[in-house]
Amino acid sequence: MRRNPIAESGGAAARYWWRDAVFYQVYPRSFADSNGDGVGDLEGIRSRLGYLELLGVDALWLGPVTRSPMVDHGYDVADPRDIDPVFGDLAAMDALIVDAHRHGIKVTMDLVPNHTSDQHEWFTAALTSAPGSPARARYLFRDGQGPDGPTPPNNWPSIFGGSAWSRVTEPDGSPGQWYLHTFAAAQPDLDWTNPQVREDLTHTLRFWLDRGVDGFRIDVAHGMAKPAGLPDMAVSDNRLLHNTNEDLRFDHDGVHQIHRMIRAVLDEYPAAVAIGEIWVRDDERFARYLRPDELHLGFNFRLLEADFDAPAVREAIEHSLAAVARVQAPATWTLSNHDAQRQVSRYGGGDTGIRRARAMALVELALPGVVFVYNGEELGLPEVALPDAALRDPVWEASGRQERGRDGCRVPLPWEGEQPPFAFSSSADTWLPMPAEWADRTVDVQLEDPHSMLSLYRRALELRAESEETGTEVEWYGAPQGCIAFRRRGGRRVCALNTSGVAVPMPAGEVLLSSVDLVDGRLPADAAVWLS
Ligand code: BGC
Repeated sequence: MRRNPIAESGGAAARYWWRDAVFYQVYPRSFADSNGDGVGDLEGIRSRLGYLELLGVDALWLGPVTRSPMVDHGYDVADPRDIDPVFGDLAAMDALIVDAHRHGIKVTMDLVPNHTSDQHEWFTAALTSAPGSPARARYLFRDGQGPDGPTPPNNWPSIFGGSAWSRVTEPDGSPGQWYLHTFAAAQPDLDWTNPQVREDLTHTLRFWLDRGVDGFRIDVAHGMAKPAGLPDMAVSDNRLLHNTNEDLRFDHDGVHQIHRMIRAVLDEYPAAVAIGEIWVRDDERFARYLRPDELHLGFNFRLLEADFDAPAVREAIEHSLAAVARVQAPATWTLSNHDAQRQVSRYGGGDTGIRRARAMALVELALPGVVFVYNGEELGLPEVALPDAALRDPVWEASGRQERGRDGCRVPLPWEGEQPPFAFSSSADTWLPMPAEWADRTVDVQLEDPHSMLSLYRRALELRAESEETGTEVEWYGAPQGCIAFRRRGGRRVCALNTSGVAVPMPAGEVLLSSVDLVDGRLPADAAVWLS
């Protein structure tokens, strides 16, 4: 029988439901559109909860749905305590939470504390207020360098391209101060030393928790605290997802005080979870975010960054487990998200990419800890090469059209039918164009096909949920070159991965699930198997 940790009531199981949960990341614009405007919405998600239950996930991570001018598709928040009309309204959110819970699915939301939108009432008030005023003190306004300040206050670049500083025009029309924006100019950074900023976040946390939300994914959880005096930095690789340990805009020690404050609120709601987006490469420093009075979980991108190569995959797994073991937090695993190139393409594209993505899904779902599945990866969707005119990611313009950005992994999901929009929307004019070739990737087609990517995910999730294995460590077996084999400590299920390029003999055991058909008792190239 399927073990459903969420359905178990009371005690530690209910409190710590997230310790081995499978989260499904919904990118709200791209999941399902209920009102025919070409953009996904909350009612669309609610209408597809049956699918998510069938898939077998435990929780949703809902990308930002709060009020936003959508410069960064919701990561520029104008009001953190209201729903943007493009996605619905508060009643639609309430209905989604209730219905998701009826389906046995928890709901976590994105929280964006590092910055607001430039349309947030605080920022518009800051622009009409004088330098040095309390309204400006919620953000990082500074005078420029040089006589009359024509040069930015320091050399920090924006992650999206160009300078991290933009100059404002003062109310009297003169060229004025500069404000910091680590991301787009429309995303001014908040000053987290300001008590009003901290207090406002506690309102936001309680606002959603009181409506029944089960937790938060915290955007840029290693940001927020900035070094005193905002000194110049050594600028190396500044692109999104390429942070280095030396980047002094991130992982400043002061950030932990903010996480303790967040945790204190969450502790009033004992089953709630906080998951930080933590781009910190040093294991010891990463683990600091997961101390008992800080975040419950931290995103770990090591598997996402590993090549399809057995030693690299093993190293990513060992490294990830070692990082969290020091604070006894569960490990987390991610192969894709809304910021990264889709794995089918990353692993080589075409049939090879699909085979490798299938194999890595089995590796990921065999590991101890928490798994995040990004919508569409269960359909094997590839990255889409979009024409220039279709690009919507602010990275494209901010980088002077040098970086194409992340739209290719954000194309709406194909549900059924022979041609776009594949029942994603009733409008053919979807916010990003959908490829006609996806006719054979729709949910409908894949549900019928026992060999589809979707069927593989469903079966793997089912076996994972049925498993009684609780070990938090991994034991490695000897394996041919280019291969790895492991099981959870104390468990009986072995996962073997073959990246060697040739078929290899398989470990002994009964085959529970394989990513490809097995031939003559051998594990083919670009494949993985679960054995008992
Ligand atoms: C989110 C991005 C977003 C950025 C700024 C990230 O880490 O995942 O999608 O653009 O934060 O909010």
